[in-house]
Amino acid sequence: MNFHEYQAKELFARYGIPVPAGKTATTPDEAVAAAKSIGGDFWVVKAQIHAGGRGKAGGVKLAKTLDEVKQYASAMLGTRMATYQSAGVELPIDKVLVTQATDIAKELYLSLLVDRSTRSITFITSSEGGVDIEQVAAETPEKIQTLHVNYVQGLQPFQCRQVGFAMGLTAKQVGQLTKLMMGLYKLFNEKDLALVELNPLAILTNGDLAVLDGKVNSDDNATFRHADLAAMRDIRQEDETEVAASQHDLNYVTMDGNIGCMVNGAGLAMATMDVIQLEGGSPANFLDVGGGATKERVTEAFKLILSSDKVKAIFVNIFGGIVRCDMIAEGIIAAVKEVDVKVPVIVRLEGTNVEKGKELLKNSGLAITPADDINDGARKAVAAIAA
Ligand code: GDP
Ligand code: MN
Repeated sequence: MNFHEYQAKELFARYGIPVPAGKTATTPDEAVAAAKSIGGDFWVVKAQIHAGGRGKAGGVKLAKTLDEVKQYASAMLGTRMATYQSAGVELPIDKVLVTQATDIAKELYLSLLVDRSTRSITFITSSEGGVDIEQVAAETPEKIQTLHVNYVQGLQPFQCRQVGFAMGLTAKQVGQLTKLMMGLYKLFNEKDLALVELNPLAILTNGDLAVLDGKVNSDDNATFRHADLAAMRDIRQEDETEVAASQHDLNYVTMDGNIGCMVNGAGLAMATMDVIQLEGGSPANFLDVGGGATKERVTEAFKLILSSDKVKAIFVNIFGGIVRCDMIAEGIIAAVKEVDVKVPVIVRLEGTNVEKGKELLKNSGLAITPADDINDGARKAVAAIAA
């Protein structure tokens, strides 16, 4: 699950990590009131969306007057924003965060994630933070340091000090960094997080460290034991089709191709996507209807696939082991009748009750193209689009 910057900062504050004063607003007037209550002469108005790269897209604005706060908030609120990190999706700006503006001397980078290759929680840090961290990683990887935390020993203060001195910090800043890293490590473990990213972690002109931007991602498998995190979910930032799919217990991921896939089993679903690519096509989604698929779920799955107008053909690839092919066929027929399907549908069925399933499809009077195997089905789907 993803979190907004303001929610990340709330979590940081709970773990003793200082964040600049800030308040959220849903209207321009609220933004002005927020700025007034924060005080000071300058503020930053920040679009709250589930994507970084806002600065470059006009979602982070420095306001020098209350009028400017109002102006920037009204320009952002109620609109949508795409950034280079949002994968082409325009995310709604329902809230802005108004923060105290700070004077930055230098921008650092710090993140915390689970490194599967070393099976450890790992800090990634760099003295070259800011909006172009991707470029630093690509061009000067030696400027990025990693610290693998031993799972049994946990994070030790001396390790934080090593990181700080390697980043060129002063003794006082190293003390602040140590407190910050210890707090983040505790937060990461206690809340079952998957990622924390501070970019920038700033050195202010007064010499103090400050967290100016925060990104947090949690492990969905642990959401059940964190009611406070679950309450922070903002469904409006999520892919609509994926949300609808999760409500029907379907494993669905939107992709950018044009062949809709309906498959049972995650392994077969991935193999199907591979074979489509191999045949020169491109899948529009990953969809696992599961081993215990019912007729209703198959119908829902069909509707989900068809909710995208990018889909130009559908390839149904079912291996009936637990699930019966005749029941899948009934689901397909019901769905095709219910939803007005205008694209070619290619169906490959194999396994339990396959003959009965094929018979049902044949007698349905619907324009469904049967396929002999996975390769044949993928080929026919690709050909159907080319035609
Ligand atoms: P992102 O573009 O989505 O990562 O949004 P950030 O919150 O990181 O903001 C982008 C950039 O705006 C930062 O790298 C800073 O350079 C700048 N910025 C953000 N907050 C402040 C602030 O309080 N003061 C100043 N001077 N610049 C800021
Ligand atoms: Mn940032």
